[in-house]
Amino acid sequence: MEAPGRGQVALSLPSPLVELQGDDRLHRHGVRLLLKRDDLIHPELPGNKWRKLSRNLSTAAAQGHRTLLTFGGAYSNHIRATAAAGRLFGFSTVGVIRGEERLPLNPSLRYAVQQGMQLVYLDRSTYRAKHTPAVQDVLRRTWDEPYVLPEGGSNALAVLGCAELPAEIGSDVDVVCCPVGTGGTLAGIAGGLGAGQQAIGFAVLKGAGFLCEEVRHLQGSAFGAVTENWDIELGFHFGGYARQNPLLAEFVADFEARHGLRLDWVYVAKMMAGIFSLIEQGRFAAGTRVVAVVTGGA
Ligand SMILES: *Cc1c(COP(=O)(O)O)cnc(C)c1O
Repeated sequence: MEAPGRGQVALSLPSPLVELQGDDRLHRHGVRLLLKRDDLIHPELPGNKWRKLSRNLSTAAAQGHRTLLTFGGAYSNHIRATAAAGRLFGFSTVGVIRGEERLPLNPSLRYAVQQGMQLVYLDRSTYRAKHTPAVQDVLRRTWDEPYVLPEGGSNALAVLGCAELPAEIGSDVDVVCCPVGTGGTLAGIAGGLGAGQQAIGFAVLKGAGFLCEEVRHLQGSAFGAVTENWDIELGFHFGGYARQNPLLAEFVADFEARHGLRLDWVYVAKMMAGIFSLIEQGRFAAGTRVVAVVTGGA
């Protein structure tokens, strides 16, 4: 099944896999670190957002839906990506946004509107009930039977899309790391790994212990089983979702100076700082080949 018009949208797949060179922090521990550059898949559908949308778009088209409807906060990357995907693949899009409308629109929502997305605002208590039949019925009737994607875009099809990533890396690596927002990306990557390979997720939110259950649930819905080859690190949120502190800012500046790549600080920088911290703690034996999935761009 191909998404409609996929042929006309140039996607860089498989995304490049490049080893970090000349980093004494790696050499000291004999660890090799490779970047899986999913941020280069497409300028408007970067990284894990494309992997999560891909099968949903082809399913929506196959089922005859003309409209995609999804949910998010005012700064959601998933809202942006859904808006872009709608324009590129010929769907109308509706973004259901948590909270009140604030004008002028922030850059994320302005971008979504420029892509043709219609925005609807739900007060916080209705928004909390967004996945209940009562609220969904109203939305489905209002918007002519849209294809509904959950908040953050993590459903079984999204997980299956992310499960394609490990095959692009091959069996020559030991550990694959990714940032964790809703857990869909980690659930998929872990599900796609081969025997003996491991996944580590780095939670970007504070108090994210609930995410383990979430990832188990997502794996169950996608694969009918939970794989036991993954773990979530909870200690690298740097103050919470979309927060940063001077340590993280310094890490980002240092990484750019060493490797010429500016990291997205909401997700990728927290994972990368976590990986270097685990290496420093001796968590990986000498000779371990670690892949860091660059899930999005700065
Ligand atoms: C959305 C996003 C994530 C989080 O992915 P989940 O599947 O929700 O865990 C990670 N990195 C980037 C760059 C993102 O935009």
